[in-house]
Amino acid sequence: MALGKDYATQECSIAGALEIVGERWTLLIVRDALYGIRRYNDFLVHLGIPRAVLATRLQMLTDEGILEKRRYQESPPRDEYVLTDRGTTLWPTVRTLDLWGRKHTGGTALRLFQHAECRTELGVYGECPKCATVVPVVDVLMVPGPGLDPDPAAPISRALLRPKRLLEPVMVDQA
Ligand SMILES: [Zn+2]
Repeated sequence: MALGKDYATQECSIAGALEIVGERWTLLIVRDALYGIRRYNDFLVHLGIPRAVLATRLQMLTDEGILEKRRYQESPPRDEYVLTDRGTTLWPTVRTLDLWGRKHTGGTALRLFQHAECRTELGVYGECPKCATVVPVVDVLMVPGPGLDPDPAAPISRALLRPKRLLEPVMVDQA
């Protein structure tokens, strides 16, 4: 639901950003897109989101230029959703929410994020403490953390057990 137009913080850029990404499922879709999920059914299964909500959010994220729709199959027509540069820059937000959630709402890390070059875990600002550099999204390696189910049923979740770089499309084994 949009914030009221007379809301005192309406001109605040945080309020403006939340108009786009503030609803519950939206950042989780962005999170999954960062993990390399691109296809409707993979989002559906991995998020456990109602179909209608997913369809609406994907459309909104596409309209807002956060995701880009790409045809990957002609018959029957199938599209996948890929993060744009504008969408990819939400990585520090997702990263910070992950750390904040772990610290303040409990829970064990499901995934760890490392600098792919040296396998050092990222610092709180997304930097590599060893290389003293901010790690670009494409150089972030995602590996299973101690809280992740090591034997999930869904193929998409199994595929995400393999260490992979962010944004790299996740390859689901065909059943
Ligand atoms: Zn490093």
